[in-house]
Amino acid sequence: MKTYKIVVKGIVQGVGFRPFVYQLATKYKLLGEVLNDSLGVDITINATNEELRQFIDDLKSNLPVLAKIDTLEIKEIDFREFSDFKIVQTQESSTKTALLPPDISICKECEKELFDKINRRYLYPFITCTNCGVRYSIIENLPYDRVNTSMRFFKMCKACEKEYSNPLDRRYHAQPIGCWECGPTLELRIKSEELRVSGLEAIGGAVELLRSGGILAVKGVGGYHLVCDATNSEAIAKLRERKRRPTKPFALMVKDIEMAKGVANISKKEEELLTSKERPIVILNSSLSTLHSSIAPNISKIGLFLPYTPLHLLILKELNRPIVATSANVTDEPICTNIKSLEKLQNVYDGVLEHNREIVNGCDDSVLMVVKDRVITLRRARGYTPISVKLPFKLEQKTLALGANQKSTVAIGFDREVILSPHIGDLDSIGSVEYYKKNIETLFRIYGFKPEVVAHDLHPNYESTKLAKEFEGVELREVQHHFAHILGVMVEYKLKGKVFGVAFDGTGLGDDGNLWGGEFLICDYKGFERVAHIEYFKLLGGEKAIKEPRRVALSLLFECFGKNAINLNIPTIKAFSQTELNALYIAWQKGLNAPLSSSAGRLFDAIASLVGVNQVVSYEGESGLMLEELYNRDEKSSYPFEYTDGKIDIHLLVKAIIKEDSKSKAVSKFFNTLIEIIATVYKDYSHLPLVASGGVFQNRVLLELLLERFPNAYIPSQIPPNDGGIALGQTASLN
Ligand code: ZN
Ligand code: ZN
Ligand code: FE
Repeated sequence: MKTYKIVVKGIVQGVGFRPFVYQLATKYKLLGEVLNDSLGVDITINATNEELRQFIDDLKSNLPVLAKIDTLEIKEIDFREFSDFKIVQTQESSTKTALLPPDISICKECEKELFDKINRRYLYPFITCTNCGVRYSIIENLPYDRVNTSMRFFKMCKACEKEYSNPLDRRYHAQPIGCWECGPTLELRIKSEELRVSGLEAIGGAVELLRSGGILAVKGVGGYHLVCDATNSEAIAKLRERKRRPTKPFALMVKDIEMAKGVANISKKEEELLTSKERPIVILNSSLSTLHSSIAPNISKIGLFLPYTPLHLLILKELNRPIVATSANVTDEPICTNIKSLEKLQNVYDGVLEHNREIVNGCDDSVLMVVKDRVITLRRARGYTPISVKLPFKLEQKTLALGANQKSTVAIGFDREVILSPHIGDLDSIGSVEYYKKNIETLFRIYGFKPEVVAHDLHPNYESTKLAKEFEGVELREVQHHFAHILGVMVEYKLKGKVFGVAFDGTGLGDDGNLWGGEFLICDYKGFERVAHIEYFKLLGGEKAIKEPRRVALSLLFECFGKNAINLNIPTIKAFSQTELNALYIAWQKGLNAPLSSSAGRLFDAIASLVGVNQVVSYEGESGLMLEELYNRDEKSSYPFEYTDGKIDIHLLVKAIIKEDSKSKAVSKFFNTLIEIIATVYKDYSHLPLVASGGVFQNRVLLELLLERFPNAYIPSQIPPNDGGIALGQTASLN
């Protein structure tokens, strides 16, 4: 008989790990103890070799649902005498590397109890257990114990306390538990009636409001949603008008997978994602006939998700219709996480369904899609974050990476580990920058982290770059935007050595001061060589060109035809007045407010304008989505282009596309051309792995075509292809 110490790291806190160990030890009649510390879980047992082996085998193969082991170390220590097996009080430790557990949807057992008339938590909107419920969103600090969460304000009743302290109970040390008697409570406020109701009446009232076409703000896990009846077109129109969101698609929450199948075509893989414990929004092919087109105007895709809290379940069971559920936030501001921030939206909602469990860390819904059976993460947040990613090498210095400016995320890296924050959002307002800083502080506080290196984008005007400059006594590391995009994917797949990176993106600042975005880079962690790029064109009006695809198209037309472009009888030209055309020609000719760009994203915009699909966008990525709709799989041909000295000249493409009489044909051939361009450049580097990333690879059609042509291509899956993946890449730059 010897004494062994077993140190387990990974997602092992707040997931019922200690009671699980307790039960195992009891099963094998082993003496010793188990405790949580900030590093993970420590087990000490007295056992023979054979007993130890059985114990570890059993431990590894029967983990609690939410637990995940990253490392498990066993060492023999000096013999210790034990009289029983105990769960010991939590210890503090100076270095913190235990993972923050994510927020998880309600489990099957809790769902059963929720609708069980004789259960004491019957219809209780905050029912939870060790295997489900809120985690990250309520955590103030590690270790994950009730006193370190916003549940500390709720004193457990006798019955809850009994469950909480019984190692054999499903609610043993489940931090967020409560019941009708002691836990969080609901309140509904209807604005027009100055009415306040609580408990089940609040749910009844909320459903009533939705049925009558009202707009309801609902406090969920990581923030509020704005919700309305998705079968009521007037309600949707009202929400669009009040939120000033004319066309951007809304996500729908549906009661269950059957209802989901009524509004979308769902593959097996997509069904798995929809019903997974993370419950993300999944972008699906909608079956348009059953849905009002105002949910996703002009687009055949629909974002769906299933209820992930008991509260959402109760609402949807009662209403029995799909609801529009969109994050409640003021334009450019982060998601509302408390009533004060929600008040800015008072003119949007008619009522608020509120509860008194504080949201400590805001967290949006995650958004995923499936392309050729691969999962693509468009937004990584609730259910998945924060995540830890292992680096293929050890970091010499503690690194903070600040991401870009849009779809921002931040990351901290130490040793071989990177912790990536949830999606924070665009840094376009004071509020969003504050929220961004709060996310950084949270990571610092929870992990006791102090950076030695701060990695940031090259762009001097990004809020993230400005923040980097405020750090004192640290090394600043500039990381080129598209290099970071490719690095992120390299880390995800732990690629070593050189890779051939294709970064098709919106815009990011390049080494030469131009706005890159159609880049071919040979990369390793130490640096990159830009071997090819889409030939520069002028972005007429700078920033304005991002909102107005017609400006990019016009610039390309001037390049092809000079001033004669003005006389062309095509949609782009018709989208301007004669005076505008003349003025823009001069601006183009003289290069006034017309920065050079090689962006593939802008090229998508230009094509959307040239074929007459979109002249001015109302939300980011609109052109790409519209072009997807026009793609015809049967079209196999492509347009000519020239490739010399690492420059891809697309003038021939532009000249050909304006002569095409079918929009669909033009768009299809454009997509095919992009693949031909990649294939042409890759030919000289085909001994290297192909890695593709950047915002343009959120495009489903482009991804499909890429994977058909290059089935071995590495594309981002767990991290987003958009700028949400930048921070991870920045951490891994050794340049
Ligand atoms: Zn549960
Ligand atoms: Zn209770
Ligand atoms: Fe980017």
